[in-house]
Amino acid sequence: MRTRVKKICTIGPACRDPAILEKLLDRGMDIARLNFSHGTHETHGQDIRALKALRARRGVNLGILMDLSGPKIRLGEVRGEPVTVSDGQEIRLFPGTESRPGVSGAFPVVYPHLSADGRPGKRILIDDGLVVLTVRASDADGLVCVVEHGGPIRSRKGVNFPGQVLSATAPTEKDLDDLRFGLAAGADMAALSFVQSADDIRALRSAMENAGRIVPIIAKIERPTALERFDEILSEADAVMVARGDLGIEADISRIPVYQKQMIRACNLKGKPVITATQMLDSMIRNPTPTRAEATDVANAVCDNTDAVMLSGETAIGAFPVESIAMMDEIVCRVEADPDLRRPWVERVPAPGRESSEEALAKSTVDISAAVGARYIVAPTRTGQTAGLVSNARPGVPVLAVTASEAIFHQMSLLWGVEALLLPETESETTFLDTVERIEQALLKRRLVEPGEFVVVVGGMPPHRTGGTNVVKVHRIGSA
Ligand code: PEP
Repeated sequence: MRTRVKKICTIGPACRDPAILEKLLDRGMDIARLNFSHGTHETHGQDIRALKALRARRGVNLGILMDLSGPKIRLGEVRGEPVTVSDGQEIRLFPGTESRPGVSGAFPVVYPHLSADGRPGKRILIDDGLVVLTVRASDADGLVCVVEHGGPIRSRKGVNFPGQVLSATAPTEKDLDDLRFGLAAGADMAALSFVQSADDIRALRSAMENAGRIVPIIAKIERPTALERFDEILSEADAVMVARGDLGIEADISRIPVYQKQMIRACNLKGKPVITATQMLDSMIRNPTPTRAEATDVANAVCDNTDAVMLSGETAIGAFPVESIAMMDEIVCRVEADPDLRRPWVERVPAPGRESSEEALAKSTVDISAAVGARYIVAPTRTGQTAGLVSNARPGVPVLAVTASEAIFHQMSLLWGVEALLLPETESETTFLDTVERIEQALLKRRLVEPGEFVVVVGGMPPHRTGGTNVVKVHRIGSA
């Protein structure tokens, strides 16, 4: 029994062995995430080939998500690392890739806009806030800073400018190169890090157009600027990731739980999938069981009505990758087994006449399927749109999305409550009833339904047409 909330595993050295990938799949992985902040095209290429071979052999939908690193700012090579700086000390940050020979108290930052973006009086965080600086002055050679909170400084650690709009925007040249590589290798969806505006999403989509393949775009929300412009970003993106790691550095950490709930709610209302990410079972990087707080964090994200939850270091570099996904699966299962934990406040109540006919039909399908005790809601879909609409109406019965497109088959791995079936269409099909008949045969053959059971079929008429969910049929299996 698979959970309705989807589960994402980040792939890395701890799990890229094909035998471990298969165990992750068996224990509940729906999407494999390749983090382009780490690894090379060679390692990502190997991972994609292994994942594609696995899903083909097992005949399942398994999404491959390329996570583009965006304009993440990092230190260069720090000579004599770690170099410890103390409270009150004055240091310099300069644009460059390595320490200057014979110069102490100056650190390279791989960021050409350093002087322009480092505003006097503003804070800079190094290594997730381990070291905190305040900018005293900016000049052509970088920034003079005072250490507010001292600590060790090491090569390539992250540098954050909390609350500031930065000159470097996503996608970067590296992202575009990674994108071309990922699209050609067969990734099914792309996440973009450090999004600051809807323009970033448009730029990525236009790069996809140029590359000849468009896949769904997930906007990673990890900057306060993105929170301020959340509505425009949500309108442009296909889905959102609540990227709590960098958001917890860039914004006030005490507000993260509220931001998470607000973003999930906004996505639910807009009908777009949302992923809750980072540190969900973080201590399982080292331990075979999570903390009580981590187990509760996963459960709470499910109660918040997230579409997906994500593991990062737990599966990529942890000592217990399989145990981590198994634990996540178990926690999600337990919450989903309790119908009282569904949150009523996410339900949309649009003004009369303001809902699209497709949304109204999807909602009605959910009501009908509950009323007749349907085994499945069956959604024949060419673009995944019908399946997405039904998923967003949060049905009580499973959704079986049937598609002839292998790309859509794997992309639907992100949709809450949606199981997918890859089934070719036939040329002879001319009516919706022909489609129902074809699907019924396939379901019987796979023993997914039994004669006499009800399914509610929702889709578009006539067949062989893309878009437009306009018909629903209550169908008793075997009644033709
Ligand atoms: C995050 O910051 O929460 C996140 C998901 O991004 P990354 O893992 O790329 O840092």
